Amino acid sequence: MNLRNNHGFSILILFFLLLAMGFHFGCKGKQASIKEKWESTPKVTDIHERLAQFVPTEIFYDKNLLNDVQKQVLEKLILAAKQMDKIFWKQASHTGLALKKELEEMDDPSTKDFLRYLEINFGPYDRLDENNPFIGLEAKPPGAGFYPADMSGDYFQGYITGAPDKKKALEDTYSVVKRKDNSLIAIPYNEEYREDLEPAAQYLKEAAAITTNTSLKKFLNQRAADLLSNDYYQSDSDWIDLEDNLVEIVIGPFEVYEDSLYGLKAAYEAFVYINDFEEMEKIKGYLKYLDEMQKTLPVAQKYKDQDLAGLQSPLNVAIEVFTAGDSKAGVQTLAFILPNDERIREEKGTKKVFLKNVMEAKFDQILVPISKTVLSKEDAENVSFWAYFNEIVLHEICHALGVNYVTLPDGTKTTVNKALKENYSAIEEAKATVVGLHSIPFLIEKGWIPKDREKEIYTTYLAGMFRSMRFGLHEAHGMGTLLQYNFIREQGGFVFDEALEQFHVDWETVRYSITNLAQTLLILEGDGNYENVVRFLDRFGHPDALTENMVAKLKDIPVDIAPEYKY
Ligand code: ZN
Repeated sequence: MNLRNNHGFSILILFFLLLAMGFHFGCKGKQASIKEKWESTPKVTDIHERLAQFVPTEIFYDKNLLNDVQKQVLEKLILAAKQMDKIFWKQASHTGLALKKELEEMDDPSTKDFLRYLEINFGPYDRLDENNPFIGLEAKPPGAGFYPADMSGDYFQGYITGAPDKKKALEDTYSVVKRKDNSLIAIPYNEEYREDLEPAAQYLKEAAAITTNTSLKKFLNQRAADLLSNDYYQSDSDWIDLEDNLVEIVIGPFEVYEDSLYGLKAAYEAFVYINDFEEMEKIKGYLKYLDEMQKTLPVAQKYKDQDLAGLQSPLNVAIEVFTAGDSKAGVQTLAFILPNDERIREEKGTKKVFLKNVMEAKFDQILVPISKTVLSKEDAENVSFWAYFNEIVLHEICHALGVNYVTLPDGTKTTVNKALKENYSAIEEAKATVVGLHSIPFLIEKGWIPKDREKEIYTTYLAGMFRSMRFGLHEAHGMGTLLQYNFIREQGGFVFDEALEQFHVDWETVRYSITNLAQTLLILEGDGNYENVVRFLDRFGHPDALTENMVAKLKDIPVDIAPEYKY
């Protein structure tokens, strides 16, 4: 249920007025006043159900993997990472940190769920409910904690137009915008968050002093310096060059999604992880088939005539040990691709890191229960982590297949992305998955995928679609999944059993319908015809009542995990 009534709101205002007028409370009085304020604060009544969407899950690693030196390095890296939590609390909202302190001080069993949900969301706005508040009535400022809470996007634009000399600083990825008197000022991150960054840098330097790996030592010292200088180029580049390390870290300001006002400001986060070299070797096996996979795509040459050399960014597999900040808020990250700096992307490429233990935890806690609800008993038994993991790997490498550039009827050459505009990601994400699945028979023929595991792949694929559809049936993100599901269903690859109210895969038809869909998507991209894509999404991008019912049936299955780190 969403909070919609205003009960208690006027009391809250009165309380703030009293505070503003300079009332002072003694310690005991302060406790009582916090409780009073809390009681008069409007809040949702279904906090328990909201919290139950996240199933507490241990995230751990095999301690035998590391020697003593590596363990000491790991400890220091975790301490550095924890500083990112502190910064992200300030970035995610203007009010979250104060609320957290109040709830901690109250230490009241009746507020335990609120505190936990506040921690999961890094603020009083529900990340699974379009950022609507679950404590208080204030909507989340689109600029989160990066800009003045009451500043509109129009005002910011107007201000910059009137003060072009301040544009660069105000729009900088690594600055916060504040109001001073009647003007806006930009405060660089290394100033704004200095008290949190200095200890982080210190821990990184201590880790650097302990490690015996030269590339890690160089990276950690450079990263420590960069956190304090606010220029991340050199250490981002050194991160790409890390080699032969088990223990690694990603730390600093990276993604800009938290800033929904302009998508300019980067949020701090950290991943501490252990490389899984054995698994990486297995993945590399796929890359040797990439050229042949491109050749066997079911389309004319012009839809697949791209040179694949240089497109293969290395795929890394790691075991997550600890995360902090942006990456820990709400739904947990399965994989990340860094750095974001375009200069380094051009010079050295990127690294893609899959967090295998996080994927496995989500699989067990979410995908398995989903499959038991939506699939026939026999098909549910075929759902496997092996298939889930391999599908994701295939998806990632299959982004490279097809074409990136198109020539429009008027002769202009552009990217598929620009031609398909806002619909690009729905089509591209679907393409990567479907082209990967289309390649399964080829990979079986090559002996890379065992023939007797083919069923696991299609059943896991179907169960996975229901997992995605839960995140929203009526938005761009859900469309990429719906179009696959609807298309294959229409062609008979997935069959709904009315009596059992469950789906099963039709083994004969599914291959054929996947190939048809791969062909359709590759042609949509290769033609770059925006109107054709709109028509296609209009036809296949919407759920029918049956699907909505099935998704509704999943409401008691957790949406994600809430990690409990055991290091
Ligand atoms: Zn993708």
